[in-house]
Amino acid sequence: MNFAVPTYDSVESFDSNYIGGEWVPSERPVSIPVEAPALGRVVAHVPASGPRDVDRAVRAATAASPVWSATKPVDRARVLRALRDALLANQEVLASLIAIEVGSPIKSGRYLHVGMAAESLEAYAAAVESFDFEHVRGNSQISHHSVTVAGAITPWNYPLSQVTWKIGAAIAAGAPVVLKPSEIAPLTAMYLARIWQELDLPAGVLNIVPGHGALAGQSLVENPGVGAVSFTGSTAVGREVAATAGRRLIPATLELGGKSASIVWAEELFSRAVKSSVMSSMLNAGQTCSAWTRLIVPDDRLEEATHIAVEAAAKLRIGDPLDESTSLGPLVSGLQRERVRDIVRSSIAEGTTLAFGDLAAHSKDDGYFISPFVFTNVRSEMEVSRREIFGPVLAIQPASDLADAVRQANDSAYGLSGAVWCDDSAKAIEIASCIDTGQVYVNGARYNPNSPFGGWKDSGLGREWGSYGMEEFLQVKSIQADVFDASGSA
Ligand code: NAD
Repeated sequence: MNFAVPTYDSVESFDSNYIGGEWVPSERPVSIPVEAPALGRVVAHVPASGPRDVDRAVRAATAASPVWSATKPVDRARVLRALRDALLANQEVLASLIAIEVGSPIKSGRYLHVGMAAESLEAYAAAVESFDFEHVRGNSQISHHSVTVAGAITPWNYPLSQVTWKIGAAIAAGAPVVLKPSEIAPLTAMYLARIWQELDLPAGVLNIVPGHGALAGQSLVENPGVGAVSFTGSTAVGREVAATAGRRLIPATLELGGKSASIVWAEELFSRAVKSSVMSSMLNAGQTCSAWTRLIVPDDRLEEATHIAVEAAAKLRIGDPLDESTSLGPLVSGLQRERVRDIVRSSIAEGTTLAFGDLAAHSKDDGYFISPFVFTNVRSEMEVSRREIFGPVLAIQPASDLADAVRQANDSAYGLSGAVWCDDSAKAIEIASCIDTGQVYVNGARYNPNSPFGGWKDSGLGREWGSYGMEEFLQVKSIQADVFDASGSA
């Protein structure tokens, strides 16, 4: 099963929601226009669903729950792997779609978006196969049970992997899911529904209802049939979702913003570490929640670090995301570009030193392109160090010693990710253990889809990936009976 690779002109619109294995027209006669940020014009439409559409999807998921929650872990793993294989078979289609609706360069997108999404499904498949759903401790039998229906709400920046991180976790747990994808980049999720349908995977286990956050998103969290919600997006909306979930007393997994630091305290690794930090901060045009957007270096190496970073930023090729040679695509929208420009402007006004970047560049383009920016000699209290910018902007901060570097890394409202670079890896691990974030990467280590992903502080609550993600949709029960433990030990 392979779909045709879409272009700006051939990308398809959707006039229905995917509910209970069928395409069901929305009950609201309005649609959401989807822009191609590289062109700055609308290329497709999806339904602007409302509460009644959401409720219909929740009812379809509820109807699918008794059978799906009773399936064997091995059968759930089979479904997850079928989906994984189909994503890989359609890698070109999906990477092109993401280039079209997000502006993410196709060359990196094949792995960054599609490869990582496929890996997350494999991690959930492995997790469900090996998870200890029921065991005995003392005179207790402890068992794990899926919530009836999972609600998933995703942002636009990673419109495939953010989706698989949530639906994969729910499906592995045994919970049918209703997904409300971002209204800014909903097409990839709609294609995912098509893939699910073509594969003939169980009806009602995956339901997709695009719509605006304040209407479709909020009604999903409020719907009494939803037993747990997983949200990725801004910290501000995350707080609203948490408040609604709190009133309903349902669990909410919240993956929110980030302002991660990369501490480079190395000799041999210095140049590679600085270049990697630049790449991380510019990945997906800087629209990555876990990007290392603050680079912390010894103060006597600030100049050298700035030189390497500027050279790396200057090498980025800005252009059409569908072009193989492009490494920096446009920002997702005109609004996002204005936000980024505003922060760059106010940082310059604040007296922050701009080492690279041009505010005037690309202002006449049709698409939402922007120059990369490197600020140097930044202090922790400056706006460019504190705000999550979500654009290709790196802040280089000098530190007087390692303790100061760690202090600056932790001087943030966020706590999502980070990096430590040190020639002595034992020392690097020691530093990493002092960073107040949910994840830290030492000396360029590869990410691990079986590890827990999530934030401390304003970066959120709960975890995704592997068994950690799956457990967010499980409820625990213990039954005490002497028959479980004849010895009577606890
Ligand atoms: P956003 O918060 O505006 O929207 C996220 C999703 O929530 C969208 O689907 C939106 O429609 C929905 N939504 C909006 N209002 C809602 C409401 N009242 N109730 C329920 N749902 C609602 O975020 P965005 O602009 O799409 O994404 C960018 C943000 O996401 C950034 O802050 C970024 O850091 C964060 N993000 C975090 C992670 C992570 O894993 N921690 C990953 C990617 C993005």
